[in-house]
Amino acid sequence: MASPAPLPRTLDLIGNTPLVRLSGPSEEAGCDIYGKCEFTNPGGSVKDRAALWIIRDAEAKGLLKPGGTVVEGTAGNTGIGIALVANALGYKTVIVMPDNQSREKMDTLRALGAELVTVPPTKFANPCHFVHTSRRLAEETEGAIWANQFDNTANRKAHIESTAPELWEQLEGRIDGFTCAAGTGGTIAGVGLGLKAFDEKIRIALTDPHGAALYNYYAHGELESEGSSVAEGIGQGRITANLEGSPIDTQFRISDEEGLHWVARLLQEEGLCLGLSSGINVAGAVALGKQLVADGREDARVATILCDTGFRYLSTIYDAAWLRAKGLPVFEWLTD
Ligand code: PMP
Repeated sequence: MASPAPLPRTLDLIGNTPLVRLSGPSEEAGCDIYGKCEFTNPGGSVKDRAALWIIRDAEAKGLLKPGGTVVEGTAGNTGIGIALVANALGYKTVIVMPDNQSREKMDTLRALGAELVTVPPTKFANPCHFVHTSRRLAEETEGAIWANQFDNTANRKAHIESTAPELWEQLEGRIDGFTCAAGTGGTIAGVGLGLKAFDEKIRIALTDPHGAALYNYYAHGELESEGSSVAEGIGQGRITANLEGSPIDTQFRISDEEGLHWVARLLQEEGLCLGLSSGINVAGAVALGKQLVADGREDARVATILCDTGFRYLSTIYDAAWLRAKGLPVFEWLTD
């Protein structure tokens, strides 16, 4: 008798996420909008993919040895991905995070057994910035590697090799547009490159939050930002190694209010509880869908990323007092 197929192990649960058609956004755009449910990864976000690829790459290069340590600077989700991959493979984790990120992400990292170091939020040029602090800690720690998600292109390779082919297969080769926001840029660059390899004509759009510099870079060639955003994990001010050569055809700038509008509608109309970067991505997907329809493509299919679970932001965008303090609209069903 043939032996049964082996059951998957934890790391096999990363990727192969479901794709859902989003009714409200599709109706608004006049064409089909799809969301890739990255919150179903075991760490609850799209960053599990980058964590797995970065660690496997370091192992393959002989940089990470048994019992070693992975050090990373992160808004939180990459840290959570690294901690669970490291636990599954027997490595230790040290995470450096700016102290203005959600309490839930810090609590999750501590619960996973990561050593958590918080630093004040600063500009990238400041030597105390979480990225520079994490690099220094990695250099000072015996047997440690620095994951370096911003400039380590194993990050975007995760999306070239997994997210893009999954989207192509799930949509049976009928996809006309893709958009998402950039933190490291790994997702937009990797999915963009991966999809263009299947079909050059797929329109790749960057969706940029306020306060980030990439919209102006791709629109006018200048890295300049305007305004600000409370969205965690997105908003980049430089061309990271992951963003270099990314095939961006068009770009949109989306406000926190627009992003929150879609977070609220996806929750109420589709039962999806998501973080703000997902709402901003969906707003961008609606804008891209409308652009394709205006170009005569009523049958267009646009995909975006539903990056992480809203349960990670119960103390922020799902908290009435927090929203009010930030001057943002409060979901009408939330009370103090
Ligand atoms: N959304 C959230 C919530 C994130 O944590 C991140 C990762 N920083 C992103 C979006 C952006 O992903 P990437 O780093 O691949 O650009």
